[in-house]
Amino acid sequence: MKSENHIRQMVIETACAMSNSGLSPGRSGNVSQRHEDGFLITPSGMAYSELQPADIVFVDEQGRADENGREPSSEWRFHHDIYRQYEAAGGIVHCHSRFATVLACCNREIPSFHYMVAVAGGKKIPVAPYALFGTQSLSDHVVAALEGYRACLMQHHGLVTYGDRASAALELAHEVEQLAAQYVSVLQLGSPALLSDRQMEEVIERFKTYGKSAQKGGQG
Ligand SMILES: [Zn+2]
Repeated sequence: MKSENHIRQMVIETACAMSNSGLSPGRSGNVSQRHEDGFLITPSGMAYSELQPADIVFVDEQGRADENGREPSSEWRFHHDIYRQYEAAGGIVHCHSRFATVLACCNREIPSFHYMVAVAGGKKIPVAPYALFGTQSLSDHVVAALEGYRACLMQHHGLVTYGDRASAALELAHEVEQLAAQYVSVLQLGSPALLSDRQMEEVIERFKTYGKSAQKGGQG
């Protein structure tokens, strides 16, 4: 098991990588990683480049943040609820990346226009209905939309992904943003043909073994 300080560093590195890659403009977005009976999350309203390990906030099983520390990101609720609901979630990334947000604003899920859509675990990438940021309603919608998927768009808002750790969630966010950009381009040419359920099941099956070897090769 990694030390708490090491996980704090990993959260900072992932948040900086998210910000530097342009995936989430300004101070938008947030990153967390599961730790003990809770999780460690980026604080509210700080520039990612200024983060120090002590700025990362631990939120426990009951959703209580350390009183001596900083305020957790305003979206800590859906991080909390995703970890509770989905055991496979070890890290979470939320961002307002450009093309995922464009689709989310049009309430367009990403259908099986490309086989890589299965990277999020299912035959499409769904959209969670809109609710005010930071609310329990938003969290409920996100948790429900993620049933069977490791990523969902958030209507009029952005994108959320999870993986076995924060860096894996960020990698998935990049994949989804790339797919969203491709899908937006495809829509400009007309309505694309979609892969069938059976074709997508084949891809999902193939990814199960592919994912395992990729994880072994990935950094710890
Ligand atoms: Zn947001």
